Amino acid sequence: MTIISFIKFMYMKVYDYEGLLTLKRRFALYIEEEFNMNQMGAQPIFILPEGTLRQTGRDAQSRNIAAAKAVAESVRTTLGPKGMDKMLVDSIGDVTITNDGATILNEMEIEHPAAKMMVEVAKTQEDEVGDGTTTAVVFAGELLKKAEPLVEQDIHPKMIIRGFRLAKMKSLEIVNSLGEAVDVDDAKTLEKIAMTAMTGKGSEAAKDSLARLAVEAVKLVAETEGNKVRINKDDIKIEKKHGGSMDDTELIKGIVIDKEIVHPAMPKRLQNAKIALLDVALEVKNTETNAEIRITDPSQLQAFIDQESKMLKDMVVKVSASGCNVIFCQKGIDDLAQHYLAKKGIVAARRVKKSDMEKLAKATGGRIVSTLDEMSGDDLGFAGLVEEKKLAGEEMIFVRECKDPRAVSILVRGSTEHVTDEAKRAMDDAVLGVISAIEVGKVVSGGGAIELEMARKLKEFAQSQHGREQLAINAYADAIEVIPKTLAESTGKDPIDLLAELRSFHDKGKSTYGIDVMNGVAADMKAMGVIEPLKIKTQVIISASEATEMILRIDDVITAKSGGGGMGGMPPGGMGGMPGGMGDME
Ligand code: ADP
Ligand code: MG
Repeated sequence: MTIISFIKFMYMKVYDYEGLLTLKRRFALYIEEEFNMNQMGAQPIFILPEGTLRQTGRDAQSRNIAAAKAVAESVRTTLGPKGMDKMLVDSIGDVTITNDGATILNEMEIEHPAAKMMVEVAKTQEDEVGDGTTTAVVFAGELLKKAEPLVEQDIHPKMIIRGFRLAKMKSLEIVNSLGEAVDVDDAKTLEKIAMTAMTGKGSEAAKDSLARLAVEAVKLVAETEGNKVRINKDDIKIEKKHGGSMDDTELIKGIVIDKEIVHPAMPKRLQNAKIALLDVALEVKNTETNAEIRITDPSQLQAFIDQESKMLKDMVVKVSASGCNVIFCQKGIDDLAQHYLAKKGIVAARRVKKSDMEKLAKATGGRIVSTLDEMSGDDLGFAGLVEEKKLAGEEMIFVRECKDPRAVSILVRGSTEHVTDEAKRAMDDAVLGVISAIEVGKVVSGGGAIELEMARKLKEFAQSQHGREQLAINAYADAIEVIPKTLAESTGKDPIDLLAELRSFHDKGKSTYGIDVMNGVAADMKAMGVIEPLKIKTQVIISASEATEMILRIDDVITAKSGGGGMGGMPPGGMGGMPGGMGDME
């Protein structure tokens, strides 16, 4: 098509559509049509709106890898018991001090798309296991770092990915075979898992007692189904309140609620509580429609008020007929109803969160009722003690001493707010660690032991593979060594010597040896009690490998102009027509 005919074409198109499509978009579509028609390698950069940024090929790859590596680097120094903390200050000046990979990456407000994928790795790890976030991100970063020279040697990303996949499958096999059995009754092992999970999270001082609480809590809510143990992490409510010391952290065989008792005349402490759980308001409903009541003399007003108070009284009578002496209400309780309840000696809390109501039901064995008319004594839950306590200037209600509670609480304490926050994160990790150990039923040695052994076995496996796959598998094996290497670096000793020392133990078959971070030597992690749930490691392998693969597959980054129409402004079929697109990849 000549230039003249093109202008004619444009002219027609613009008038055809009466300005519905902009000239620029038409032009883009024209190029696209032309391109599709004769499949020539014309640079189709015009198919994108003006201002769009685009990086392709090696350029895109190396930038993505650099961004992802930067994320890994940012959390690397926090790994392990001697890992440093990060102080994060958000845009409104709130400070978080933490050592927790997922928390750091969450707060960092990362922008780069490939870097965001690394944040996803941390999130997945956090959601699936709750611990091992730093390990996963650091490993993913190292995988990319080790893939880079391969890319530079012109090995097609597809081949690298293939090798990595082989390595991933083999790694899962290796760690599975190294796992040792653990069950719900093995409190000693489980406590070690809890302690390993808490290391480095500022809770060193009270580690033993916190670990014991974590294990006890998990045991209380564990349910055996046949020969499988099922644990729902939501059945353990981990609350925090600053003031006091970490040693004051307690396990409540029941639920703690961040609420106060509604009326001052109600008792603050009540034994043998019979608990009603209401999902109905103890209020006279406001009419939805705009009704107007005309009152012509004072007696009518009095009658109206009397009517309302009678309704409230009836409600209270109905509830108390069930025999309850405590009420947790998910909705509101009218002032007058509160007064009547107080007169009957009933303790009440209102606007309790739905999630707390559900936990209360599980802990006390009660049932949440949504109509007062159908309420009976069978719906009530029981607790040995219900009390309100003031902690750090705020009231909390403790529902304690429940018999065989299906949900429990841990109230984490610490001297200041920041200390308490970090102690709670440590407790979260400990509880989740214990849960994943029981669920999968296997544990492995930490301190880099499992990773080093994995690398060794992978390298053996690589021998059996050919050329490029072998290179990739070896790169994968080198990458996982970043974990013992980083732990070795954190000791302050020469990491190369330390790793060599560790390797020599593994060569002698001592596969549970890892880095004793505190003393800067290689030592038997299993004997030291540094053990972790197998699930952490399998999830690390899966999420790091998948993210790496995803990043390696990308050879084209198209960034829409910010604030503009975004990718939506692209002509139909835009992506499909691009040369060098994803079509030729696996
Ligand atoms: P993550 O977010 O990956 O869990 P952590 O900062 O919790 O990162 O560090 C976990 C690593 O520290 C694991 O490899 C674990 O085995 C190791 N680790 C924990 N406690 C010890 C210890 N006492 N000695 C040596 N290594 C330890
Ligand atoms: Mg951890």
